[in-house]
Amino acid sequence: MSHDPNCLFCKIVAGQIPSKKAYEDEDILAFHDIHPWAPVHVLIIPKRHITSMVDVGPDDAALLGKMMAVSPRLMKELGVTNGYRHVINTGRDGLQEVMHLHMHVMGGPRPWLKG
Ligand code: ADP
Repeated sequence: MSHDPNCLFCKIVAGQIPSKKAYEDEDILAFHDIHPWAPVHVLIIPKRHITSMVDVGPDDAALLGKMMAVSPRLMKELGVTNGYRHVINTGRDGLQEVMHLHMHVMGGPRPWLKG
């Protein structure tokens, strides 16, 4: 299924639910997380509905590579100059809440970190 009408992030891709977009092309969308854990916190998702990393196969390698490869440019555009984290939660035991594959990218200054 390329679009799941019951999926929150498919609705964001379709523009049925608003999001603050940070990057978009024909395959992927990046938007700001509604409950950020860091000064800059974006989610990068495939536009096509993929439930989680469990459903990723060899045919998705280019798509996954694109999601990774876009993040340096994106973080630079968003003013992140000192590093960032990628996190992918997979499945219930992996703390995944929204069942549409997404990569968290989090950066920006952390006042609670010294140095
Ligand atoms: P967790 O909540 O444990 O991080 P996920 O890895 O599934 O689970 O992350 C889902 C993310 O989606 C959360 O960080 C949440 O804040 C974010 N989110 C949920 N709804 C929206 C929305 N409408 N717009 C932007 N981000 C959203």
